[in-house]
Amino acid sequence: MKCSTCNNDNMETDTFCSKCNSYIANPGLGVKASILDRLLAEIITSMFAFSFLESLIFFEKSPIIKGLIVFVFYSILYLFFRQGLNPGKYILHLRVMDTTTGKQASIIPMLIREFPGKFASGMLTLGFGYVLALFNPNYQTLHDKLARTVVIKETNYIKNIEKAYSS
Ligand SMILES: [Zn+2]
Repeated sequence: MKCSTCNNDNMETDTFCSKCNSYIANPGLGVKASILDRLLAEIITSMFAFSFLESLIFFEKSPIIKGLIVFVFYSILYLFFRQGLNPGKYILHLRVMDTTTGKQASIIPMLIREFPGKFASGMLTLGFGYVLALFNPNYQTLHDKLARTVVIKETNYIKNIEKAYSS
């Protein structure tokens, strides 16, 4: 398939342009996210979001307030997931895309990806599910494969950064 960003001819099966890394299903939206970005997003999400939740629950005595905190936390998470995001991805301008539709991942693939998926990538395979990304041309982890997703970095954000550095 021809890439509308750089005119490179790609194979029908390619998810990303082999020349400019654009997401072929929606080239204006973003490019393949780097392993470093993916790693940082993972650290931000697990360290900040989940550790924050756990420490709040730990110091709170009342079970009602504990329940409320958990409820609010998961409601916020739901709002992230609905947009193909989690907190780390939001901060780094990454987005989870559904390879079956070419659009941003909806709530069902996001839930598969974030819960059973990340459990499979982490605990179940001792982290090997994450390492898998290094050996996959689309940087898909095991949880990406299970949810049929890929991760992109928003083009608009990259352009803004480049503008900031060139002026
Ligand atoms: Zn291209």
